[in-house]
Amino acid sequence: MTGAAVAALEVRRELGVYDCGQPGPTLLVLAGIHGNEPAGVHAVRAVLRRLQELELPLRGRLVALAGNLPALASGKRFLARDLNRGWSEPALAALAARDPEAPGADPEDREQRQLLHRFEQVLRTASGPVAFVDLHTSSADGPPFLCLADTIDNRRLGLSTGVPILLGIEETIDGASLEWFAKCGVLAMAVEGGRHEHPATVGNHEAVLWLVLEHLRMLPSGSVDSEAQRRHLAAAVGATPPIVEIVRRHAITEADAFRMRPGFTNFAPVVKGAVLAEDRNGPIRAPHDCLVMLPLYQRLGDDGFFLARPVRRFWLHVASGLRRLGLPALVSWLPGVRRDPDDPLTILVDPRVARWFVTEVFHLLGFRKERRRGALLAFSRRWSRPENARLGRGGW
Ligand SMILES: [Zn+2]
Repeated sequence: MTGAAVAALEVRRELGVYDCGQPGPTLLVLAGIHGNEPAGVHAVRAVLRRLQELELPLRGRLVALAGNLPALASGKRFLARDLNRGWSEPALAALAARDPEAPGADPEDREQRQLLHRFEQVLRTASGPVAFVDLHTSSADGPPFLCLADTIDNRRLGLSTGVPILLGIEETIDGASLEWFAKCGVLAMAVEGGRHEHPATVGNHEAVLWLVLEHLRMLPSGSVDSEAQRRHLAAAVGATPPIVEIVRRHAITEADAFRMRPGFTNFAPVVKGAVLAEDRNGPIRAPHDCLVMLPLYQRLGDDGFFLARPVRRFWLHVASGLRRLGLPALVSWLPGVRRDPDDPLTILVDPRVARWFVTEVFHLLGFRKERRRGALLAFSRRWSRPENARLGRGGW
C-alpha cells in the first residue's frame, strides 16, 4: 500500500436527495471528504437507488453530498490540504477572510466554502432532528468502526448499528467536520467502513446507513431488512471490543520521515515496548499495552497512528447517570474551575489547582477537552439541539 492514487471518480457535489414530503428527521450523508475514499460515494448512491426503486415512504429527508470533488477526481486524499481539518471556528474565520479565487488559492478553500454553505442550508431548512454521517475508509485493514463525540444521543445512534465505537478522536484532531456538526448540536458520527479498496467496505457503509435510517425511524418498520444488515456488520466486526477510546495520537510532519511498520490493522493489540514505526529519530515504541488505530499506510496525512484502549460499559453507565443527575452544572463550584465568561458551555480549569479531577472526570460528566489556553485547560459541554429530544420518543 503506497500513496498511489485509488480509482478516480468524477462526481458532482449533490449525490442525491430523497424526500417524500413527509415531516421527520434529516439525515445528511457526506462521502469522499478524502478523495481516495470513494467507497462512501458508491454506498450512499446504492442506498438512494434502492429507496427510489422500492419507492419507500421516507419520513424526513436524506441528503447526500460528495466532499472533495477535485481530490476524488484524481484519487488522492487531498490536493493542497486535508479537507477534513479546518472546521474549527478560528479556521473558518480565516477561510472567510481568504479569496478562494485568488491565484495560488488552495483548491480545498473553494470546496470547503461550498460544503459549509450546503451544511448551513441543510440545518436551516431542517424541520426536525438532524443527523450527520461522514463516510470514510482507511489505508489499513481491519473491521469497520465509528468515531463520535460522546453524547448520549450519539452513543445510542452508534450502538444501534453494532459497529465498534472509537471515542475521543475529535479531541485529538483539530477541526474535523464532525466537530463543526457536534458544535451545532447535531447528532454526528464518522463511519470508517474498512480498507479503501476492500470488496466488503461499500457493503459495510450501506449497512450502517440502513440501520441509521431505521434508528431515526425514518422508514416504516420492516421495510429495512435490518437483521441481514446487522448480520453483515457482525461478521465484519468479529470479536472487536464494542467501545474503545483514544489515549494518544502520534502526529507527524513530512520532515519526520515516518514509516509505519507493516502489518498493523485497526484494533491490533500491541504490548508495551513493541516497535510500531520508525522515523528519523529511530524506532517508535508502544508506551503501554494498547490497541493500534488508523496506522498510516499512505503518503498523505499528518496522523501517524493512534493508540486506544477498551472502555468498559460500566463507566458509560456511570457517565449517563452523572449527567442525568445534573452534576455537570455543579462543576464550576470545584476549586480551580470557573466558567468561561465568554462562553457558557465552556469551563476553564487550572491544572495546578484541580490536580485530582483530571480529564477522565470531565469526560464522564460530558465535557470535551479543548486546547490549552495559556496555563488553563478548557473543557466544553457537548450539547444537543432541542429537536433531538424528539428522536427517542418515537414522535416520527
Ligand atoms: Zn477519511
